[in-house]
Amino acid sequence: MITVEQTRNDFESDIGPLVKSFFPEETVWMKKAPPKDPVTYRLYADVREHSMRLLFFGADGREIFDVSDSAELSNKPEYRNVIKRLLYRSLSAYTGKELPWGAQTGVRPAKIALDRLGLGWTEEEIRSFMKEHYLCSEEKTDLSIRIAKKEYRLLSALEKKGYSIYIGIAFCPSKCLYCSFPSYAVQQYGNLMDDYLLALFKEIEFAKDCLPWELQTVYVGGGTPTALDANRLERLLKKIRDTLDFSHVREFTVEAGRPDSITEEKVRILKQYGVTRISVNPQTMNQRTLDIIGRRHTAEDVKRAFSMARQAGHDNINMDLIMGLPGEDLPEAAHTLDEIGKLSPDSLTVHTLAIKRAADLNIYKERYQAMIPENTEEMLGLAAEFMKEHEYFPYYLYRQKNMTGSLENVGYAKEGKEGLYNILMMEEQQTILALGAGGTSKYVFPAGGRIERTDNCKSITDYIGRIDEMIARKRNFLEKEGGAFL
Ligand code: SF4
Repeated sequence: MITVEQTRNDFESDIGPLVKSFFPEETVWMKKAPPKDPVTYRLYADVREHSMRLLFFGADGREIFDVSDSAELSNKPEYRNVIKRLLYRSLSAYTGKELPWGAQTGVRPAKIALDRLGLGWTEEEIRSFMKEHYLCSEEKTDLSIRIAKKEYRLLSALEKKGYSIYIGIAFCPSKCLYCSFPSYAVQQYGNLMDDYLLALFKEIEFAKDCLPWELQTVYVGGGTPTALDANRLERLLKKIRDTLDFSHVREFTVEAGRPDSITEEKVRILKQYGVTRISVNPQTMNQRTLDIIGRRHTAEDVKRAFSMARQAGHDNINMDLIMGLPGEDLPEAAHTLDEIGKLSPDSLTVHTLAIKRAADLNIYKERYQAMIPENTEEMLGLAAEFMKEHEYFPYYLYRQKNMTGSLENVGYAKEGKEGLYNILMMEEQQTILALGAGGTSKYVFPAGGRIERTDNCKSITDYIGRIDEMIARKRNFLEKEGGAFL
């Protein structure tokens, strides 16, 4: 356990993740209460108005480093970057490690490049900025710029002011080991589906005309929307199509997600209601891993579900993969890619396992600790090579906290098959109204980069019982901020 003490808490979310990235096996303890486990290192951050000092000690009290720098606390973004660079360089010198993303701890590295492209910066200026400011590696700087250029081109094609709607279906056939989404196993909570849909329909009614712009993308995710039986799925899609104005919708995505939830009837219904993009998510094609992570479907089910979707006429199918699952190494990653290559989906999203606090994988850490792979970076390299060879191009990127190897998730697509919603959401380019349990609506203000959020309850029973309150939160926000926002 590494304890972090600070004279102020302003930089907690910068210091904590950076320390964790250097010592992924350690818990970083930032609370005032005494730590529960034995302490291996202590970091002390002395934050002053015009300067900072970082002291790092070993368990035996020996000083490892004592470094300082200066910046104006009144200019927080700049202060933040100076303190992160100072910490990064000191920890890097001590551990001998370099992190691919350097001192960059944010979840949207491509947004740094995208925003600057919008301001007219040249590629070279962005490259120097990312290297000097965030100490990013050459490879990750290149990836960010490449993705930002693609995003810039795709977003420029959206002419008018628009918004998107996200609809969350919080049910799944079973709960995956690593899941930290709002998701409820059908077997246990299936009896709540009708009440859930009723509440959701109320929210869809509210959303239909609360913004005066073009609705440009609709994304139904979860959970697993296809965990609904065919009848309920059809009712949901009918409600969406009958209520929302689809005249300007450029993309209508439904995450079919779990292959064990896909049937011929459901993929036909998705097509019938004009869904333009679906995902069928294997995560891995290794049966042993699927069993460990609790997916309760086979690799053969993935192939079957994919071919059903193709036969129903779906010509834009995404597949999600995870690198770094318990017990997997390079041969397992190669096998997955090989099997996926035979299916030839239109886009692939390659995730790196992020072990979140709430997920079972973290709760049962002791049981799976020995199975967490160490060479996720090499697996990502293998995936990147595969993408190049099969002409999938990277088009969006994000990072999560507690990611294995301090790496990233990358969306790849064949030319013209990119998921527009993914870019809009990830790069915070337009307002997204989120409906359903656990949804967070994001309101992007036209000026000054301001973004505000309203949250829905995560628990489905709360969502069902408090739906009027969820709607009122959005309504109140829009009434209060109307002038500046609209
Ligand atoms: S399918 Fe996705 S949302 Fe459902 S339990 Fe698994 S990880 Fe969670």
